Amino acid sequence: MSPEEPPEPAIVIARYDHGESDRILRLLTPSRGKVGVIAPRARSPKSPYSGLDLGVGLRARWRERGELGRLTEAEVVDPRARLRESYERLAVASYCLELVGAFSREGQPEPKLYGLAEMALVLLDGLDGGFESAFVAALEGKVLSFAGLCPRLGSCARCGGALEEATLFSLQSGASHRRCAPDEEGLLVVDPETLRRLEDLRRAPLREAIAGEAVEDLLYRVVVFQLGRPLRSRALLDVR
Ligand SMILES: [Zn+2]
Repeated sequence: MSPEEPPEPAIVIARYDHGESDRILRLLTPSRGKVGVIAPRARSPKSPYSGLDLGVGLRARWRERGELGRLTEAEVVDPRARLRESYERLAVASYCLELVGAFSREGQPEPKLYGLAEMALVLLDGLDGGFESAFVAALEGKVLSFAGLCPRLGSCARCGGALEEATLFSLQSGASHRRCAPDEEGLLVVDPETLRRLEDLRRAPLREAIAGEAVEDLLYRVVVFQLGRPLRSRALLDVR
């Protein structure tokens, strides 16, 4: 970014040790998508960058330098300290950030995915009780939708008709009647009620999903299908 530009809002979505005392931070920003920067001497306790932990919201400036920029200024806006007070919260936050990061582009505006990550972190940071798998499913549905990759959930992807008993599901195109089923291997038999619930979760505000009833992890299968790989932090979740 050029020196005249104002600091960019950002969320730390991943961080790695680098060299003797530096860290590499992966940031998600609204106007530049994913950005990689080196935070010099960030592992020294006296460094102004030492508190840039996973999920922290900040305003940052950096100097562009090929693939990895160099952080020159970071003001923590929201430390979200409560995320790190409970294993469960941190596990969900880690998954949320890995998921959003996996579908965000580098150097392209990602205001919707940034806003979604921000909302998820604010909700998790303020959470008193536990959360349900509905929250994770809602997040997956929204991320897939924002990336333009969510399969049809609430109606038949072929004819648009209402779902009936024994609906089939393709990880690529979504629900269909048996008579409309695409010529594709690996179609799943799903309960239409599950699909209707997932569609409701996808469309409703994220905060409503926090206390929602448990739901099947069908959308995670779509995530893995679209990315061609599983997400590491998903294994940390005790999704009920
Ligand atoms: Zn149909």
